[in-house]
Amino acid sequence: MSFSLEGKTVLVTGGSRGIGKSIVLELAQAGANVAFTYARSVEAAEDLVQEIKDNGGKALAFQADAVNYERAEEVIKDVVAEFGSLDVLVNNAGITKDNLIMRMGEDQWDDVIETNLKSVFNYSKAVIRTMMKQRKGSIINISSVVGVSGNAGQTNYSASKAGVIGFSKSLAKEVASRNIRVNVIAPGYITTDMTGKLDEKVLDGITSATPLGRAGEAVEIAHSVQFLASDASSYITGVVLNVDGGMAM
Ligand code: NAP
Repeated sequence: MSFSLEGKTVLVTGGSRGIGKSIVLELAQAGANVAFTYARSVEAAEDLVQEIKDNGGKALAFQADAVNYERAEEVIKDVVAEFGSLDVLVNNAGITKDNLIMRMGEDQWDDVIETNLKSVFNYSKAVIRTMMKQRKGSIINISSVVGVSGNAGQTNYSASKAGVIGFSKSLAKEVASRNIRVNVIAPGYITTDMTGKLDEKVLDGITSATPLGRAGEAVEIAHSVQFLASDASSYITGVVLNVDGGMAM
């Protein structure tokens, strides 16, 4: 059994940069038609679509705030109209707005919960009818080691990421009878723009708390996504796969 995605259509939220971009590239290389959303990075999104087309693949990009449910419905309608199906949804869009609870503004709480958790509801709800009709589907939600273990200064982020885990297990139970699988990937520290903001002392602390002794690369998350998207994982649902160099154990 290979991890080929030939003939499958995939939608990735937040695909213009970082982990999402790597997922888009790897899944396109595995043969999938790939659609992705982004919030602001118009040029990066256009470049990525071009890169996939130059390599003989099919790609579509949508500027779509993941917080907006109606826009999620439109995006999914357009993807199905263009590619004829939607087999894999990867809920990846996410942000951080870190602060100690003493200093955390209500807006920092609301923004992170809406972008990281409501977005997962939005795209899962919007896609579920299509997947039920197809009697197959794979939903992969990107959580975080912080959603499993917690982290000082990230009450908003860890609540959103723990929420993603609870949501995914409940949805996995709801839709398993329709052959729709729902799984979670919980990355550890991965080098992207999101983690580029951290200072060297914090980074040293993270590396020494990671048994494999290094940061992860975005492509290492993409490889796990490819496995959960492919038929090679056909008997796996409701799991949280820690891709974190051993950090959470
Ligand atoms: P990143 O480099 O900051 O990229 C974030 C992506 O999400 C961008 O494509 C961005 O689009 C998109 N995005 C942000 N807000 C959005 C919104 N409202 N609507 C639509 N798209 C939106 O982040 P990353 O490090 O790749 O993280 C990706 C996911 O992995 C996140 O869910 C994050 O929480 C999770 N994660 C990351 C790490 C890590 O160490 N990096 C660890 C654990 C979990 P624009 O380019 O348009 O802004």
